[in-house]
Amino acid sequence: MGTATCINTLAAEIHATAVQKGFWDPGLDTNLGTRLMLIVTELGEAMEEYRRNGVTDHFGEELADVFIRLLDVAEGYGVDLGAAVDAKMTRNRERPRLHGKRF
Ligand SMILES: [Mg+2]
Repeated sequence: MGTATCINTLAAEIHATAVQKGFWDPGLDTNLGTRLMLIVTELGEAMEEYRRNGVTDHFGEELADVFIRLLDVAEGYGVDLGAAVDAKMTRNRERPRLHGKRF
């Protein structure tokens, strides 16, 4: 299974679980912007765990939350994330060191 297919298969599985758990029910007080901000809140939780305790299992759990929410949004909005990652990685491999920036 290629990288793109693997990502999209996982995204479909994650989204199906989110739908089953009610996170995509009509009438919820949410939209794309809210869903994107929920990814940011998971990054904040990861930062706070790192700040308090360093790289712990809980820190990994928060990164997993970020990953899960990201794939859920991609699948829920019909984004072919696998193809997008493949295309971007191809482009990044061709870019200069640090992509031409200072850091
Ligand atoms: Mg979390």
